[in-house]
Amino acid sequence: MRYLILSDIHANLQALDAVLAAAPSPEWDHVVVLGDLVGYGADPNGVIDRLKELLPLAIIRGNHDKAACGLDDGSSFNNVARMAAAWTSETLTPGNRDYLRSLPAGPMSIDHLLEICHGAPYDEDHYIFNGDDAVRGLEAARRPLCLFGHTHLPVAFERDRAKLGGFAPEEDTELELRAGATYLVNPGSVGQPRDGDPRAAFAILDVDARVLTLRRVEYAVGAAQRRILEAGLPTSLANRLAIGR
Ligand code: ZN
Repeated sequence: MRYLILSDIHANLQALDAVLAAAPSPEWDHVVVLGDLVGYGADPNGVIDRLKELLPLAIIRGNHDKAACGLDDGSSFNNVARMAAAWTSETLTPGNRDYLRSLPAGPMSIDHLLEICHGAPYDEDHYIFNGDDAVRGLEAARRPLCLFGHTHLPVAFERDRAKLGGFAPEEDTELELRAGATYLVNPGSVGQPRDGDPRAAFAILDVDARVLTLRRVEYAVGAAQRRILEAGLPTSLANRLAIGR
């Protein structure tokens, strides 16, 4: 069983389609989505419609999904994020708004190996940045591998007995999930990477082989930027895509 792992797509249809072209369906059996389908980008309906076509095995909500469909007032957002949430809310079709409202909160167990969450397994809105957060996350996780998003930064934490290791993955990192160890991994963001690499990030998990492959793919950044500017969204949201910040 192989899963295509998608996180933080953020209404970037150009990035999502590039990922689907780079990892066509013969390479995976099911799609798993870690939340933040929308917010920031200009194609919330296009992204939701595409995900619906993929019939995800599992899909959970992120903080931007909650803000866009009225489940959260966005008061914790900065101005730009709040403007984007308001624009997204006005732009969503009623059906796609209902789809976002129906998304479950993480954490969610997928199988014997995998659990997913948006922020952290102990709080869907918490950002895991450092080793302390990671230890707490590893202790809260109910499966050997917990995948998370929210920070848009690819990172892998591994704990073997009491020893914690963490690293920022290189391109096409193949992470072998060793028996007895536990893992907390962020595959990075499809639609708004923040690690200085503008390419879309995603992962493929081979459950039987216990291998998680973290990948990057170039996409039409200029087209995504034009969509953002045409929509009247803040210019900064277009600019940051080019530098991956
Ligand atoms: Zn996000």
